[in-house]
Formats: sequence, C-alpha cells, structure tokens
Amino acid sequence: MRPVCKGEIPYKEIRQYGDAEPYLEERIGAYCSYCEMPIKHVPEVEHIESRSKGGALTEWDNLLLACKYCNTRKSNLVAKGEKENYLWSDEDDTFHPYSYSNGIAQINEEYLKSTDSDYAEHARKLFELVKLGNVPNERNKDRRFFWRNEAYNDAVDSKEGWIKVRETKQKSVFLKNMIIAAKNSGFFSTWMEVFKDDEEVKRALIDEFNGTRKEIFEE
Ligand SMILES: [Zn+2]
Repeated sequence: MRPVCKGEIPYKEIRQYGDAEPYLEERIGAYCSYCEMPIKHVPEVEHIESRSKGGALTEWDNLLLACKYCNTRKSNLVAKGEKENYLWSDEDDTFHPYSYSNGIAQINEEYLKSTDSDYAEHARKLFELVKLGNVPNERNKDRRFFWRNEAYNDAVDSKEGWIKVRETKQKSVFLKNMIIAAKNSGFFSTWMEVFKDDEEVKRALIDEFNGTRKEIFEE
C-alpha cells in the first residue's frame, strides 16, 4: 500500500467533505489510498474515522481517497477514536507490511516478524478492514484483484523490454514511457514488487507517482 504525503491542510474551511477531492487528487494522485487502483471516475473522499460514527466530517487529517470497493468494505467499521488500531497510508509505513508477488496482495509475514507487535497487529487489521487480499468469485463484483493482475502483467512485460534496452541509448525514452504506463495501470506497489531488484526503476516510480512519501523508501 503506497505511503502518501498529503501535506499541510490546503483549505481554511470547506463546507462539504467532497470539496476536499481536488486537493487530495492533486497531492496524492487519483488512486485509491488502500488498494492503489487508478480511479478513472471522480474518486470518493473517504473518512478514515467514519462520519456516521463520530469521525470529523471535513478535517483534512480524516480524509483519504478511495475506490468504491475499498470504501464499501471499510464501510463505517472505524469509529471515532479507533484510528490508532490500524495503520494508515498518510501516516504510517504501509508499504513494507504487504507483498504483491504475482500481483496478489498478501501480508508480508517475514517483514512483520521484524516489527513490534502493535505495528504488526495494526497492519493485519488494515488488510482485513478493506479486504485487500480478496480474490473474487463469480458472484463477487470486486474488480481490484483483476485490475491488479493486469497491472502485474504490464509490469512483467515492461521489465522484459527494459532488460533489453537498459544498456542502450533508448534507455531513457523507454523508462519515461514505462513510468507513464505504470501511472496509467496504477497499483504502485505491484510495480515496485516486479522491479524490486532495480533501484533505478524503483526510484523513478517513487518520484513520479505524485505524493508518494519518499522517506519510507530510504534505508
Ligand atoms: Zn481501493
């Protein structure tokens, strides 16, 4: 899950929480803050602590962007005061506790062994909250799995091409186009996983996906 930086509060006051949408989109890109799917329609402004359970309605700290699938699953499960029981992509390291090998979202158990137990528990709770690892069946309309898989295949294909050109003059044009493709297909962490041994591509992904919290990726 891509860790994001929303920056300082961009407004003095907004009347409706939906008015935060353009600010969020400009700062962190039109991607779901949970599953990382690109959102082609207007993204839904998501309340971290549910507005029906006392969460602040228009407070910048309580807002993220979400796709319909994550927003629906999260529903009103996080009440006011319960935020601290989970990790959040705008505050915590939400990149390392999950893995996306073969385009499938999973808990990174190996990593969580090295962290403190609260952090590990909060990471698991977030994963469960939005059902990040959901694999849909026939009746299940959840498209996140499908689109992540497409992004995974795009990344694998791109990597094959990249390996052929990275020692040649076409390298920089190829890299530029590859990043455009990545931003179109979304699923930042899946691309990062496919290129996990390639510092140059990872650096470009981190730099070019707007609002990615860079310090999470520094040693
Ligand atoms: Zn989502």
